[in-house]
Order: sequence, then structure tokens, then C-alpha cells
Amino acid sequence: MSLFDKFSDLAAARKSLGDGPVPPVATPMDAISSATEATIGGQPVILAGTNNYLGLTFHPDCIEQARQALTRHGTGTTGSRMANGTYREHQALEAELGAAFGWPAAMVFSTGYQANLGVLSTLAGPDDFLLVDADSHASIFDGARLGSAQVIRFRHNDPENLERRLARLGENASRALVVVEGLYSMLGDQPPLAAFVEVVKKHGAWLLLDEAHSFGVFGERGLGLAEQESLLDEVDFIVGTFSKSLAGIGGFCVSPHPELEMLRYASRPYIFTASPSPAVIASTRTALDLSLKGQELRQQLWRNINRLYGYLTKLGYEMGSTTPGPVAAVILPDRKTALAHWQGLLDAGIYANLMIPPATPQGMNLLRISLSAAHTDAQMDRILGAFDGLGSGQ
Ligand code: PMP
Repeated sequence: MSLFDKFSDLAAARKSLGDGPVPPVATPMDAISSATEATIGGQPVILAGTNNYLGLTFHPDCIEQARQALTRHGTGTTGSRMANGTYREHQALEAELGAAFGWPAAMVFSTGYQANLGVLSTLAGPDDFLLVDADSHASIFDGARLGSAQVIRFRHNDPENLERRLARLGENASRALVVVEGLYSMLGDQPPLAAFVEVVKKHGAWLLLDEAHSFGVFGERGLGLAEQESLLDEVDFIVGTFSKSLAGIGGFCVSPHPELEMLRYASRPYIFTASPSPAVIASTRTALDLSLKGQELRQQLWRNINRLYGYLTKLGYEMGSTTPGPVAAVILPDRKTALAHWQGLLDAGIYANLMIPPATPQGMNLLRISLSAAHTDAQMDRILGAFDGLGSGQ
């Protein structure tokens, strides 16, 4: 017996991916030269598998602000927000996030993962209920596990299923927090948000929306799905990340409820970890500003999205979502086909994501293309063209 015996299934799954020169998971990037270009396995590739939706990772203003912050404030804060890691700039970013939503409360966390951990585990206490979509991101399930609320799953994107569960709670629904995402990153699908809002309101429950993948992408000012659907007034908490459209690292929670502030004194994933470094905060503040007025970036992103979605459906691929979005998930029949597609794209100079169980819902094997406002028409031609040689995989 060994401590490592429990990993034998994972080891077998890893082995099934082969041992080619470029691993399809944790693929090392030799060098990154722009928001959409890198070198992988010694070969130049177009990046079509990142979360760089607005293409801001190399924006000169973000880089310059980060550089200045590095010089002025040093490399790291070396401490937690509640001890020695709150700089004026962390507070400024919180004020800017709150102002963007027009809400009084905003908290910055060190990652988006920790934002969910910190908010969910603390907001919902031992007498409360957490109702989470069955396809939720790991950070939502982990936040639920870290806390002591009773956790109830409802069927993915199914407001009727949620309604039945809330009805069963009766008056206790007023102590229930419902959690949905603005865009599910595995299949690229969106929730029926208005229907969820209706059910939550009817039962007097609370709604938290994780806009990790939808912030910067949806809505006139890029605030996310709630903005696009004119439902901002109906949401109690929005969680987001700095690591996708905002091109940095970190997370946030904003709320119309000023009481959110008390989480600073109670949330262990907020208190017991170091705060984001000054350079990250500076680039994120600039990226937030660019995103809020980034209508042209979003137009370009959506042009690219509609082009890819139209092309893949024309080729006969089964897509993970019936509506186009920044994540295009191609459902392939088995792991071998998915791996062959991933390798075929890489051979054609396109880096995409291979997604396999247990990371995927319903044991699916997926090839995921994520697009960016920074993809040029010529790069889109290359991405689309790379699919021509692959066959539909059906
Ligand atoms: N929530 C969702 C829905 C996500 O998809 C992710 C990351 N993929 C996170 C939270 C965590 O964000 P971060 O990478 O900033 O920790």
C-alpha cells in the first residue's frame, strides 16, 4: 500500500493521452509574443485556447501602469488584506468596481477561485442553504464544501428544477443562496437568467451570479450577462475574476448590499492569504477602465465569435451550446477523436484546449476554442482553415 495508490486511475487517464512531444494538458508555452501568438513545441502558433477575451494581456497602458506600480510599490505586498496587505490601490480598485455596478460594496480577492471560496463559505452559514447548478465551476463546489450550509444541487440551467427545491424549503428559502454562472466554460452555454431570477424572487431567496467568463464579454459596458439582460437590479451578488477579460489575476465580489463589507472580518479565504501584488492591481485597474469603454473590442470579439460558430456548425460539428459565445465547445465522440483533433489543430499552428473527464460534464470529450477581440481577420482565417483538414469527427 502506498499513499499514491489512489492516483492510479488518474495515471492511467494521463497515459491514454500519449507521450508525444507536446502534452495536450498543461501544455508548456515556450514563449508568448502577443495576446494571440506564442511558440509551443518550438513552433509558432495562434492562441485559440486562452481566456483573453478582450486581448488586453499586452495592452501598452496595462503594461505601463504595472511597470510604474512595480517601481513605486515593489514586487509584492507580503501580507494579507486584514494585516499589512491593504494598499490605497486595492481600495481604489474596489471603489472602481463598485462604481461600475453602481453598488456600495466591493471586495477584491487574490483569485477568482478564492472569491467564490471566500464568499460562499462565509455568506451561507450552518442554518442556511446553498443551491448550486450541477455544472458549476469547481470553485463554487469548493466554496460550498468549505462552508457549513446545507448544499442542494439543481439540474443544470433548469429553473423548474430549482423551483421544486426552493418550494421544498418553504419559509427557509429566505435563507437560501442560489448560485449560477453567466457563462459555463466547459460547453460555452448561458443560463436562462430571467427565469432563474423569477424563481428566486418568488421564493424570497438570494441570487449570486458568477460572471467569471461573461464579464467583459456581455453588456454595453461589459459588466456581464446581468447587464445584457437588464437584470442587474435583481441580482444580490456578482462574483468575477481578473484573470480572463481583465488579463491579470485576482477576483472580486460586488453587491448592492452594503453588509457584504462584514465578510472582510469573517471570510477565511480573504483574511488568510496575501493580497494581490501592486503590479497586478495597477494593470487590472487599467484593464477595467478599458473594458468598461470597450464597445469596439466587444464588437470585434463578437464578429469573431459569430464567424467561428457559423463555420463549425456548417462543417457539421455538434456544439456544446446552441447559442454562440466566446467559448466554442466542439463535442467529439471519444477521447481518441478529441485528441486527434487537438493534435491536428496544433500541427496546423492553432493552439486550442482539449477537455476530457473528469473536468467535463457527462463524461464528454471536448475541443474548446476560445476567441479574443485581438484575433485578426487573417488569424480567424487560419483558425477556420485548420478545421478543414480534420473532418467533422462524426
Ligand atoms: N468561477 C468560474 C465560473 C470560473 O470559470 C473560474 C476559472 N475558470 C473561476 C471562478 C476561478 O477564477 P480564477 O482563475 O481567477 O481563480
